[in-house]
Amino acid sequence: VRTTKIVVLGGGIGGTHVALELERLLKRRTDVEVTLVSRDDFCTMTPLLFDAVSHGEIRHVTAPIQPLLARTRFVRAEIERVDLIRRVVFTRSDGIVQALAYDHLVVALGSVPFYERVPGSRENALPFKDVEDALALRSRVIDAFERASIERDPRRREQILRFVVVGGGLVGVELAGELSHFLERLASVYPDVRREEISLHLVESASRLLPDVDPAIARRVEKSIAGRGMHVRAGSPVEAITPGEVHFEGGESLAAGTIVYASGLAVSPVVASLAVEHDARGRIVTDRAMRSASERRVWALGDNAAIPTPDAPWRTYAPLAELALREAEVLARNLVRATEGESPEPIVHPSRGTLVLLGDRKAVGQFLGLRVRGSLAWFCRRAFYLVHVTRWQRRLRVALDWTLDLLLPADPAPLRVPARQAQNDPRSRDGRAPPSTPRSRAQRISMRSASRAAVLLATAAPRGGGYLARSLERRQEKKETSS
Ligand SMILES: Cc1cc2nc3c(=O)[nH]c(=O)nc-3n(C[C@H](O)[C@H](O)[C@H](O)COP(=O)(O)OP(=O)(O)OC[C@H]3O[C@@H](n4cnc5c(N)ncnc54)[C@H](O)[C@@H]3O)c2cc1C
Repeated sequence: VRTTKIVVLGGGIGGTHVALELERLLKRRTDVEVTLVSRDDFCTMTPLLFDAVSHGEIRHVTAPIQPLLARTRFVRAEIERVDLIRRVVFTRSDGIVQALAYDHLVVALGSVPFYERVPGSRENALPFKDVEDALALRSRVIDAFERASIERDPRRREQILRFVVVGGGLVGVELAGELSHFLERLASVYPDVRREEISLHLVESASRLLPDVDPAIARRVEKSIAGRGMHVRAGSPVEAITPGEVHFEGGESLAAGTIVYASGLAVSPVVASLAVEHDARGRIVTDRAMRSASERRVWALGDNAAIPTPDAPWRTYAPLAELALREAEVLARNLVRATEGESPEPIVHPSRGTLVLLGDRKAVGQFLGLRVRGSLAWFCRRAFYLVHVTRWQRRLRVALDWTLDLLLPADPAPLRVPARQAQNDPRSRDGRAPPSTPRSRAQRISMRSASRAAVLLATAAPRGGGYLARSLERRQEKKETSS
């Protein structure tokens, strides 16, 4: 019997769950071979990433991929390109190039920050997409408090303690909420920093925050965060970001010690280079069964796919974790149907609502038709993602940790994890070559210590995160070799 080869690209929320679902559906089939390829050997549950900034906790956010999979082949490698004619994926890992042949290709490579929208954002702002970014931001914030503690000049102190989040979409708003809570906690630990010296600014170019969310929810979010002393600047398009400064259209500018860029999504260069039909945002255009409109052996889901909704063909599903999970289920079933010569089924996913994190164990929004707010909303949001934490042992661990977190007073100890990335240290993770500024020895040393710190963190966390530390180290070694 000829074996059908399915290759899944991307071990994030969408790709990992396609592989898991295929394992369940193909239990008795030996004629289908599944390979999952991703650059990291862990899957990140991004909606929980905000916790990693305020708590430095990585176990809750990530799940090691290999132990989840019983029969899927997992390849940890950078995907470089796909030859659609010969049906081969080319990957590279530690300098070794592999060619993986496929009959069906699933593209779940997620998104990258939309740097092109704001000149200077790549070089002069911190991104917020993954665990490394969250740890880098955490270190950066703690650094700011340490630097401000020894700075005498009041203007310099204010600038060091000014934090700007560019982008008032879901990620920017939730990050700002969590950051305000974290800043509050740090202020109670650093006696030389006065609360009135700290400021947090959330900047959005549209006329209101959360332009893609129900206006009633957005209004409640705005009210809540403004009540905490956060400076919200909606209707303020950012023209450029230079080192330590955000420039607005109209000439105004804001100097800040920490600038985070969370504005817009773009597709990765691998997706952009695929010779399939793309929409205006570069996503792969699919039919309602998630099959590429132009290449029948290519399927796509998650952030890199433009999947039409049933209500209007021009409307597509939003780039959300909740949707990527549902898409993964349906897509896996469709792949099985395709191997059996049956036609695939369309995805239908009525929204269960939106819950927006406000920080300090609070959220607001709508869930299953009900308006919820405060701690109850926060709890519903957490519970939803806990259900999707794979394997019950891990789920139990996370649930116990969260319960302890509720019962015990917050531990304000600032654990600084010196991440590899300085604010002006552009990276090549999105597949583009970084500008040619060579890294200084000091930078390289601090990057190496990032990996060591991750190892320490993993050792301190029982049975947790060793895979992450190894992965960070491997990524670090690779970067050092290439620079
Ligand atoms: C900070 C943050 C918070 C969010 N909060 C929420 C939320 O509260 N609710 C919600 O519904 N959604 C949220 N989202 C959106 C949600 O995370 C995405 O919609 C979801 O992750 C999409 O899944 P995906 O599989 O398409 O992409 P991802 O989960 O991003 O996975 C893509 C995978 O592909 C890998 N990859 C990419 N390129 C390559 C390559 N060249 N070689 C090898 N591997 C590669 C990546 O490393 C990654 O593992 C949030 C996103 C972020 C960044």
